[in-house]
Amino acid sequence: METCTKTYAYRGEHCATFTDRRTTPIIINGRVYLDMDIKTALFSIPNIKSPGPDGFNSGFFKHTWHKLGTLGMPGLIWARPNMPRNAFISWVLINHRLLIKQRLAKFQPQSDTLCVMCSAEEENEDHLFYACSYAQAIRDQLRQWWNQIPTVQQVTSAIIIAIFYHIWIARNHRIFRKKQITSCQTAYLIKDQVSSRILFLKTYSKKFSSCVDSLLN
Ligand SMILES: [Zn+2]
Repeated sequence: METCTKTYAYRGEHCATFTDRRTTPIIINGRVYLDMDIKTALFSIPNIKSPGPDGFNSGFFKHTWHKLGTLGMPGLIWARPNMPRNAFISWVLINHRLLIKQRLAKFQPQSDTLCVMCSAEEENEDHLFYACSYAQAIRDQLRQWWNQIPTVQQVTSAIIIAIFYHIWIARNHRIFRKKQITSCQTAYLIKDQVSSRILFLKTYSKKFSSCVDSLLN
């Protein structure tokens, strides 16, 4: 029998994860579920809903499924590879407290809700961090670099959380300072920040050593 490493709640039910998610199932109330079962359930949830107590919404897991799979479910935000300021912004985001225009409009009904990054759609969490052409351009520019990095869960989450942070910073620069940070500049900042952090941490933990060469490419 597999070794149980941790437990978490999935849609209100307690379940267990196992060391190797590719070969071992998840058991919920005595019933066995494979990754595909969870993926099907997850993708049926609207993006703004949260499937677990960690606060990440379904949109996060859908967009990162190819990297994280079911391992992405437990809280990742406060892991060491994340810069504290990145973790904080992501924490506020997943708790739906970030002051995006859609939220502000509830208190100021006449306010402008158009996304300042693309001027195409309303600024809400799902749009700004996933669907916006600015967010897509960042992911496109990171894709080649990201794909060559070995899948280490905490490194993957550090990249995603850095993307959230830098999108938020670029958005605020455009609104409050009237300055544009291009998607190319943001992608460079994300690479630089994550690489520097992992290089720093590799002296403390060998699990990051496998990522160093690819992070620096
Ligand atoms: Zn947009």
